Amino acid sequence: MPGRVVVVGAGLGGLATAVRLAASGADVTLLERDDRPGGRAGRISRDGFEFDTGPSVLTMPHLVSELFALHGERMEDHLHLRRLDPAYRAVFHDGSALRVRGTLDALEQEVREVCGDAEAGRLRRFAAHLEALYQAEYGDFIDANFDSPLDLAKPRRILELVRLGGFRRVHPLVSSFLSDWRLVRLFTFQAMYAGMSPFEALGVYAIIAYMDVIAGVYFPVGGIHRVSEELAALAVRAGVDLRLGAPVEAVETAAGRATAVRTASGERLGCDVVVLNPDLPVAYRDLLPPEATPRRVTRLRYSPSCVVVHLGLDRPLTGAEHHNIHFAQGYEASFDDLLAGRLQRDPSWFLTVPTRGDPAMAPSGGEVGFYLLPAPNLHGAPVNWDAQGPRELRLAQERIEGAGYGPAGDATVVASVVTPADWARQGMAAGTPFAASHHFFQTGPFRPANVAPRVSGVVFTGSGTVPGVGVPMVLVSGKLAAERVLQQLGPRSVAS
Ligand SMILES: Cc1cc2nc3c(=O)[nH]c(=O)nc-3n(C[C@H](O)[C@H](O)[C@H](O)COP(=O)(O)OP(=O)(O)OC[C@H]3O[C@@H](n4cnc5c(N)ncnc54)[C@H](O)[C@@H]3O)c2cc1C
Repeated sequence: MPGRVVVVGAGLGGLATAVRLAASGADVTLLERDDRPGGRAGRISRDGFEFDTGPSVLTMPHLVSELFALHGERMEDHLHLRRLDPAYRAVFHDGSALRVRGTLDALEQEVREVCGDAEAGRLRRFAAHLEALYQAEYGDFIDANFDSPLDLAKPRRILELVRLGGFRRVHPLVSSFLSDWRLVRLFTFQAMYAGMSPFEALGVYAIIAYMDVIAGVYFPVGGIHRVSEELAALAVRAGVDLRLGAPVEAVETAAGRATAVRTASGERLGCDVVVLNPDLPVAYRDLLPPEATPRRVTRLRYSPSCVVVHLGLDRPLTGAEHHNIHFAQGYEASFDDLLAGRLQRDPSWFLTVPTRGDPAMAPSGGEVGFYLLPAPNLHGAPVNWDAQGPRELRLAQERIEGAGYGPAGDATVVASVVTPADWARQGMAAGTPFAASHHFFQTGPFRPANVAPRVSGVVFTGSGTVPGVGVPMVLVSGKLAAERVLQQLGPRSVAS
């Protein structure tokens, strides 16, 4: 008889785990509290506007196609992905702008025009270095389960990382290759995705820049939520019993082992293993017995959070690309503010315009604007976010207008603001959708493990566990979690 697995949560982590387990023959039930799959990669539909609620930068799409291939299908038959060119338009305080073009050749040409021949040559060498760093890290440090820190002790790999500057800080590492301050910013700001400043993050995190600036940024026609929808449909075709609108209240345990999952409607589903996709500290707090929580999970450091403003506009934004980054003048100071738990005084901000990739996401002639402002998490200085939210809407419209994109205030017909208080209400620890930060002691074998140390039969997937935050990482977390489940099920896992 195949092993019975209940996966709680149909975020991208839960979906990837369920799809993989189904391919191994396990009997999988997937319970999602919301009416749609996707979690943070969700969707708000209002008055003809389609708003992606979370990720806008999709990288490493081969991790999605692997899931289709497991079931003998092709991703291209379900999702229409476009490589964005430019991937970003970066705007600097001095008025200069640089387009991160869709291929290295085109980016080199752009750098030649904006920064000069010498810098274009340096870019080539730096891109090759980033690729080497990525190759050195991926198999052993990202796509790997750890049972103990000793698993890190692979001397040849470590020496290779030392040689490539993986244990220097991101900013000095990048600055040792590139001399134009704008390029240095473009290749270092991604440390913030891992919850750190590039001035403190280890060089190994420079590979996030490899994933988007070099390996490419993609956009699924219809928006990133389409990935969630299509993975959910794949799971169902693969035999997963997907139940939406089914919040789970508790995991039942007996003699130190998970035995069943209880839903809010009172249903009890017996299982051999349960996989938890809600934010890991919240899953421990709300779903498992109190004694199950490891002490270090109560002491995690969290990444900064963000404010998102969704704008439905009745006219196009002038001059916007799909992704637009506006860098603060005081680059280091903006990270200092966030990490000290303060609102940025001179903020960097992002504007994504998904209607540039798919006009059908807005009513005819309209535009969708997704404005993201990095903000402190709820462990910082207290902010009354319910009062700050409306101010952030006005500030977003003013900044968009000030940057020359046109009369955003007058053009707004639908608006909503999501603050750190809202992320907390959605079940994210410390009010951040970016999980525990990736400081050295919260990374790899030091990140909260994907198995509960005190209750057997409990596995975690998603951004709170290994390898970490972001769409590519949570898809890998699904693979690592499925491996853990199959270890726990043993020979029962495969249906005969
Ligand atoms: C604004 C924003 C911008 C981002 N930008 C990017 C980006 O550009 N690129 C990128 O790669 N990443 C980005 N990210 C990060 C990325 O979206 C996340 O790391 C990833 O989607 C998290 O997936 P997950 O599976 O860990 O968790 P989630 O998506 O949170 O999934 C958890 C699921 O569990 C469900 N759940 C919770 N409690 C229960 C319960 N009791 N019972 C049943 N179900 C439950 C939830 O409803 C949810 O569906 C962004 C995130 C946000 C919010």
